[in-house]
This record gives sequence, C-alpha cells and structure tokens, in this order.
Amino acid sequence: MSQISDACGGGDGARALVPGTLRGYRTWRLLRRAPEDGALPLTSVTRGVRWAPTLTAECAPLEPGVDGLPEGAGAHRAPTAGCRCGIYGWYDPHDADILRARVFGVVQASGLVVMGERGFRAERATIAAVVTRNRRLARACERAGVAVYRRKRDLLADFPPEDLTALLGPRPAPADGHHPVTPPQRLSAFDGVVLAAMLARLAVIVLAVVTLPPLPAVMAAAAAHAGVLAFLAARAAR
Ligand SMILES: [Zn+2]
Repeated sequence: MSQISDACGGGDGARALVPGTLRGYRTWRLLRRAPEDGALPLTSVTRGVRWAPTLTAECAPLEPGVDGLPEGAGAHRAPTAGCRCGIYGWYDPHDADILRARVFGVVQASGLVVMGERGFRAERATIAAVVTRNRRLARACERAGVAVYRRKRDLLADFPPEDLTALLGPRPAPADGHHPVTPPQRLSAFDGVVLAAMLARLAVIVLAVVTLPPLPAVMAAAAAHAGVLAFLAARAAR
C-alpha cells in the first residue's frame, strides 16, 4: 500500500499541487447489490469507499491496526503533500493493473491534485468511462452519464493517456539498465565519398588484373591507389 502511495505522490516525494483536470486510470470492485441512493455499484479496491459518478476526497484515518495515515490526517483539505489522502489515479493505463479488480476505467481528476511519478492523488474525480460486460453496472453507468465500453482497447482509443511531459518533466531513465536504443548513425557525406572512391579503386584494379599482363596491371592498380589518395586528400583539405 505504501509503495502505491509513494508512486502516486504520497509521503514527502510529491510535486507541487496542480490545479486543473487530469486524466487517470484506475480499477474498482463491483458490488453485488446496486445501491439505492444513486451511487454506482463500485467501491475502491483498498478501502471500501462507495463511488458516485463524481467523488470528493476527505482525509480520514483508517481503521485501527491498518497501515494508517500520518499524524495530523483529517485536519486538512485532501489531498496534501506528506499525507496519503485523495483519490488515486495512474497516468499509464497499464499501471492500473497493480491493483487488480473487476472494473477498469478512466477518471477525470479536478480540484487539488498532487502529482507523483506514476500517478496522482486528487481532491475530486469524475468517472468518464468504464470497461464492463456486467449489465447491471452498464445500466447504472448509462443512467449516470458514464460511458461504457466492452473492450479496454476501445476505451483507450477514445481516452488515450495524456502527455504529461510539460507537467512532470522528462521521465527518469528506467532503473533496470534498459535504455532506449539509439538509431544507427547514418554515413556522413565524407564517409560516403571515401566509400565510393574505394569501390571505384577496387573496380579499376579488378579490371586491370583481368584484362592486362602482370606489370601493366600492377601499374594500373598503383595509379588507381594514387588517384584515390589524391582525391581524398583534396576532399579532406576543403
Ligand atoms: Zn490527508
């Protein structure tokens, strides 16, 4: 839990609070019974928070004995740096699988948002779309104005990840030693000229060896060699 918290801006590793809206991905548990108060039959995975189409976070201590919130929790508007409160979302849809659950979806976060390396904690989140084949959930979502998809890839085509480079800065290099492969360098213009000259010399020598007696062939090869050297010297001197 604390690793997830850290990745989503928990503890002291958080960046500045960001106003505005932010797209994030997450998962939910599906409730067996539909709530009667207009809430969706969805709860958070780690805490049993029932979700309405739009949810507002409150900072509240967990049950005793559970990996709890820091001292001072509950006395501030959620979220805040140094706490773990707020509604969690991941920037990358694949990261949402860290908390596997039956329903996957996309939220639009607003209000105060604390940004971590891989996810955020937000004051408010509105469910934009979910992936489900459960008819009860699909009906409840459609009533609430939440888009329903049968396939994750269709949802991601309509709600692709946002480019957060401007907000997060360049992403750090992966820690496992894998680095992006640099494309092979193309030949420089001079290298190309050298290659062409060497090929031309080879052609002259082969032609001389095939068509001339030994001594004139050697002289032709030497002349070709000298010609290439003179040509390269002239190019290099430019
Ligand atoms: Zn808090």
